[in-house]
Amino acid sequence: MKNHWDKYIQKWKLDNIPVKELSTFEDLLLEWNEKINITRITSPEDVEVKHFLDSLSIFSLSELAEVKTMIDIGTGGGFPGIPAKLYRKDLKVTLVDSLNKRIKFLDEVIRELDLKEMETIHGRAEELGRDVKYRERFDLCVSRAVANLRTLSEYCLPFVKPGKYFLAMKGSDYKEEIEAGKEAITILGGEIIRTEEILLPGDILHSLILIKKVKKTPKKYPRAGGKPKKDPL
Ligand code: SAM
Repeated sequence: MKNHWDKYIQKWKLDNIPVKELSTFEDLLLEWNEKINITRITSPEDVEVKHFLDSLSIFSLSELAEVKTMIDIGTGGGFPGIPAKLYRKDLKVTLVDSLNKRIKFLDEVIRELDLKEMETIHGRAEELGRDVKYRERFDLCVSRAVANLRTLSEYCLPFVKPGKYFLAMKGSDYKEEIEAGKEAITILGGEIIRTEEILLPGDILHSLILIKKVKKTPKKYPRAGGKPKKDPL
C-alpha cells in the first residue's frame, strides 16, 4: 500500500498515514464485497487509490484542521468517513446511508477496528436533516458520489452549524456542477469559498468544493418525499 502514498503525503501535507488499519479495512471490504454489493472497485490497488487516497485528499484543505464533528452522507462502504476517522482519530464521525446492508458492514468495521466516537445511522439525508438531533449540529458535512450538487446541497447543508462547512467531493466536471448548483447553495445558506483540483495516480482528476454556511438553512428545507432529487432547487 505504501508506495502510493509518499508523493501525496508531501503534496497534501499529510502525516502518519494509518497504513495498518487501512489494510485491515481493505481486507474486510474485499471479504464482505464478495457477499454483499458494497463497491464496484475490487482490486487492492484500485481500492487504495480510488477509495483510500481519494478519501484522504479532503485533508489537503487547511480548513479541516479546525473541524471536530463530521457527518458523511451516503457513505456506502465508508467513503470518505472511515479513512477520515482512521487518519484523524480525534474526529467524532457519523456515517449515514439509506441501505441497511452497508450500515451492517460499517458496524462490523467499527467493531473490528475498535473505533470510538463513531456512529452509523440507517436513514435518508432528507429526513435526518429535519431532525433536531442532527440539524445544524456538525462542523463538517461531507459527501462523495451521492447526487448532483443541487440535490446534494439540500441533503447536506441542513446538517452544518452556521459558520462551518459542507464539502462536496466531485469529479472533473465540477465547474458545470457549480454553475447549476450555485443558486440552490445560496437559498440553503451556503457560499462557495474554495475549489481544489485533486489529481490521483493514473491522471484521475477529482475536485473538492468547499462551502461555508453563512446563514441558517430556512426551516422548509430539506423537503420531504424525494423532492430534493425529483425537483432540485
Ligand atoms: N460515498 C460512497 C463512495 O463514494 O464510495 C458511496 C457512494 S454510492 C454511489 C451512493 C450511496 O449513497 C449509496 O450507498 C446509497 O445508498 C446512498 N444514498 C443515496 N441517496 C441517499 C439519501 N437520500 N440518504 C442517504 N443515503 C443515500
